[in-house]
Amino acid sequence: MVNQTADAIVIGGGIAGCAAAYFLAREGRSVTLIEKDAVASHASGKAFGELLPEIVRDANDPTADIVRGSLATHRLLGEQLAERVRAVRREKAAVLVADSDHLADQYRQLYRNNSDLIGDVRWLEHGELSHIEARISPEVRGGLYLGDAAEIDPHQFTSTLWQAAEQAGAVLVNAEVLDIRDDGPNGATVSTGTSSFTAPVVVVAAGPWSGALLQRVGITVPVEPLKGQIVRLEVPATEMRVSLWWGGDYATSKPDGLFWCGTTEERVGFNEEPTQAAQDSIIASAARILPFLAQGKVIRHTACLRPVSGDGMPVIGRLNNESSIVVATGGGRNGMVLGPGLGRCAADIATGQKPSFNVSRLGPSRFLR
Ligand SMILES: Cc1cc2nc3c(=O)[nH]c(=O)nc-3n(C[C@H](O)[C@H](O)[C@H](O)COP(=O)(O)OP(=O)(O)OC[C@H]3O[C@@H](n4cnc5c(N)ncnc54)[C@H](O)[C@@H]3O)c2cc1C
Repeated sequence: MVNQTADAIVIGGGIAGCAAAYFLAREGRSVTLIEKDAVASHASGKAFGELLPEIVRDANDPTADIVRGSLATHRLLGEQLAERVRAVRREKAAVLVADSDHLADQYRQLYRNNSDLIGDVRWLEHGELSHIEARISPEVRGGLYLGDAAEIDPHQFTSTLWQAAEQAGAVLVNAEVLDIRDDGPNGATVSTGTSSFTAPVVVVAAGPWSGALLQRVGITVPVEPLKGQIVRLEVPATEMRVSLWWGGDYATSKPDGLFWCGTTEERVGFNEEPTQAAQDSIIASAARILPFLAQGKVIRHTACLRPVSGDGMPVIGRLNNESSIVVATGGGRNGMVLGPGLGRCAADIATGQKPSFNVSRLGPSRFLR
């Protein structure tokens, strides 16, 4: 078997792995990224692409720093990759819709009484919201307007990151990693069956497949797939100026001219097939908030898998102090927001630097006690 070497090996060509490869390559490290399918061919290419901002400052939340840091990394990438990111990112407000009196009261309270609110957050009564989106159902009581939200084209954004990594010298190997051996301070070796690759550090950014890969080194880091589906509708209607969010679902128009509606949360293992039942429930939910969407013609329907850890928080850090394996996964429903931050911290840790953000409570060791 041919053995190749690099300064770092990254497993997984989703947003987390491509970001890790990009930041490592920018540091001048030789990087081999191993991807079993194609770059951005799973969740990182099929997500909704919303970058929801932080709303409330909460010092006790272990994820607060990486959320803030990752959103800052998105902006940093906007500067470093300039027009390439500008072409795939849009600043576009989001509205958390209140579809019941109870929720409307909660949002009003949050808006009026919370001194820890961050950024451009406003409560809009139904009448005010209908000035922004006149087609909302009368059922909607109002909404929390998040002026700092943005959206990216997930596939193009992730591909852009990879292309930038490649330009900085990273190399793509299209193969499935079947095995990993952790030789502690001496590095790690991954095997694809036909080749093996040895490096001082291996970043496991294999999305929902990360848990199974880490089992290869005898370590249990619980990461499960949580399936979600998105339906794209053609509707003869003008575009939406905001994205609307309610009860885990969402809808907006996208630059492809279609109205994207989602979603589902399904624990069905690694099944990535779209289903008719999901399509029907997604359209029914969207049409309840935006009745005009009931007339939509389905143009595309996709499904993909979010990587969700055992406690729902991201997983970022070395397996242990001796290990040559760095884990970067668990973005869950927020993985497009978190991907650049996970990749950046993985690159920091892999190169022996202090992580750019405080991820001290997010290491895999929390599952290993
Ligand atoms: C319907 C839906 C909508 C979403 N919308 C949003 C949103 O609006 N905003 C947001 O922030 N997040 C969103 N997400 C979440 C986000 O898409 C994911 O959290 C994120 O894409 C995960 O990225 P990742 O790089 O960790 O994993 P992935 O994108 O899954 O990438 C992992 C890669 O590793 C590869 N791989 C796995 N095993 C191996 C192996 N053994 N050898 C080689 N390669 C391997 C896989 O082929 C894959 O390409 C959404 C998710 C879904 C399902």
